[in-house]
Amino acid sequence: MFCGALQIRDRHGIETRRAPREEPTSGSCACIVRYGDDRECSHWISHHGSHRAHYYRYGHQLHENHQADTDIRHLGYHFAWFLWTHYSSRGKRVDIVAHSMGGLIARYALAQTERGHDRFPPYLLVEDVATLGTPHGGARWYTSGCGRGQCIQMNAGSSFLVWLEQNGWEPDGRGGTDWSTFGSDDDNLVAADRAAGTARDRDPAHDYIVSCHKVWYRESANIEHSDFLHTVSKETSADVYRFSCRTGRWVRDDTSHWPVRRADLAVTFGTF
Ligand SMILES: [Zn+2]
Ligand SMILES: [Zn+2]
Ligand SMILES: [Zn+2]
Repeated sequence: MFCGALQIRDRHGIETRRAPREEPTSGSCACIVRYGDDRECSHWISHHGSHRAHYYRYGHQLHENHQADTDIRHLGYHFAWFLWTHYSSRGKRVDIVAHSMGGLIARYALAQTERGHDRFPPYLLVEDVATLGTPHGGARWYTSGCGRGQCIQMNAGSSFLVWLEQNGWEPDGRGGTDWSTFGSDDDNLVAADRAAGTARDRDPAHDYIVSCHKVWYRESANIEHSDFLHTVSKETSADVYRFSCRTGRWVRDDTSHWPVRRADLAVTFGTF
């Protein structure tokens, strides 16, 4: 299924952190996994904010829940208020690990808040975001499993993705946000370059998002779309290309970390 997962982490107990498990299989994909929590969808974002305030068009059910085809911008709005209520308004800085569409939800939430949209919270305290298999440059044309509206929003060149490039080029919470974007050659829903946020030639001039860290799992690593959530090995044996804004260069690395561990390191230390 093509949807999004979001995991929130605070700054305590690094070693007890758990990886997200399955993608949700029904209802809205924009569920929240709390840091240190073992279960998917432990917290729904629906009760934060007012449903009718932002792109309330389709995808709502009775009891004000969301369906699998809710406008990504609407989910981003709820997510921004979720972050505000539980963390930012209390001075808590968090990290976000996002899979697939979840990365667009987080990017939109940070972008609209940063530009001061009057329906969004005053600010967000998000230190790091790692997105895994997120279609920053668009999903493959045949991608299915998303709702019709969401699929349209995730098409390469959609007005939504163009908006994100224009308004969420380098989205920052208050105090700055460090972005890491992961893609994989074996992801048959989102091409490696488009998830890593660059182009096939890896020329920074063709990026889709300014992320300080980019990781491109090569074919031999065999990371498929959902493997970003499940490949928890702590070995350093993955074949990647990776980029760091500190050097401004892409390097080939055959002894790299696997996705879940890599995401941990990215949001915890910002190291590569
Ligand atoms: Zn809603
Ligand atoms: Zn809540
Ligand atoms: Zn950082």
